[in-house]
Amino acid sequence: MQLKTILNRVQKFKSFVYESARWDETIGRLCLIVTVAARANSRPICSGCEKTGPGYDTMKPRRFEFIPVWNIPVFFEYAMRRVDCRSCGVRVEKVPWASGKHTLTTIYMQFLAHWARKLSWKETAVSFHTTWDKVYQAVQYIVEWGLKHREVGPIFGIGVDEIQYARGHKYLTLVYQIDDLTRLLWVGQERTVETFEKFFAMIGPEVASKIEFVCSDMWKPYLKVIREKCSQALHVLDRFHIVAKMNDAVDDVRAEEARKTKAAGHEILKHTRWCLLKRQVNLTDDQRFRLRDLLGYNLKTVRAYLLKELFQQFWDYNSPAWAGMFLDEWCRQTMRSRIEPMKKIVRMLRSHRELILNYFRARKVISSGIIEGLNNKAKVTMRKSYGFRTFRVTELALYHTLGKLPEPEIGHKFY
Ligand SMILES: [Zn+2]
Repeated sequence: MQLKTILNRVQKFKSFVYESARWDETIGRLCLIVTVAARANSRPICSGCEKTGPGYDTMKPRRFEFIPVWNIPVFFEYAMRRVDCRSCGVRVEKVPWASGKHTLTTIYMQFLAHWARKLSWKETAVSFHTTWDKVYQAVQYIVEWGLKHREVGPIFGIGVDEIQYARGHKYLTLVYQIDDLTRLLWVGQERTVETFEKFFAMIGPEVASKIEFVCSDMWKPYLKVIREKCSQALHVLDRFHIVAKMNDAVDDVRAEEARKTKAAGHEILKHTRWCLLKRQVNLTDDQRFRLRDLLGYNLKTVRAYLLKELFQQFWDYNSPAWAGMFLDEWCRQTMRSRIEPMKKIVRMLRSHRELILNYFRARKVISSGIIEGLNNKAKVTMRKSYGFRTFRVTELALYHTLGKLPEPEIGHKFY
């Protein structure tokens, strides 16, 4: 069987034929070069307007990288024709296996992008003897194609989250759809009012007016934009962010007290960080003993910890009214604790009381933990794609793994 028989089986083109295959070692590695030719009498298609036109001339043969076989790189070699197009002027022709100036065939980009979702970009490059940069190009192409071809609406529920992508307060704004469809809708640079407004500009007022619930943290710019753009929606402050703030407060208390006790010659708070932050069920045996020991001391840290643990009950309520009463009582008790970071939590809870209680009003539609789950996936994705911690790379990697974007249809499944 000839190589071109196989190629015709997996990827056949109407107006082009596979001619011959030969070995080549000019790039320092053994490669297969398959020459492609236009069928006799076929007219080239203008890459500008996608209409056929008369041929103008033929350029030097170009190579397009195809999917490797048996760890041997495969290239198509084809001399592109130029079209004398009536509307666009002289333009290079459009070919079905590649797009624009790409030297990778579309199917090879799809192949690499597929693996770049399962492996890190670096691992993908190493596995297929290619470069990080080509994997980047592949993901970029597939993501751009997907964004262009996806359907944005209708959207009934969204969650907005911020995430740090590089050192020095470099944040991204991520907007997820969290109704029947769970996917990343949008990635914005920074976490300002202007950033989040761009998301609403992208979806347009028609889609925005149908949003029924919004989940966010307490970041002021987000609250402001939600009030303006989604006034009809039920706005919920996400549990995950409140729990995270509470943990930060306990950790601040511990850190400060640890410094003081250490200065006084005691090491009681050494290595206690995770005992105090983890849920009790997740503690190791060692941590559990450490915690039990610690609870016997009259420390600010212990009091803050107990308040935090008590607050867990809040999430078990069904009725917003009862939850509200619990919240008020917890706040009163905590204000008397004279522990500044915890009092700060109280002030935060009090000033967002209604939005927090919306958690109980929206419980039937928003599954708790959904934003936390997405946030974790986003973090894993960011770790896997680097490379370079630029906004563009991060944005592409996030859309690629969490966007549930459509992909160009293919006849033969190469992966
Ligand atoms: Zn044209």
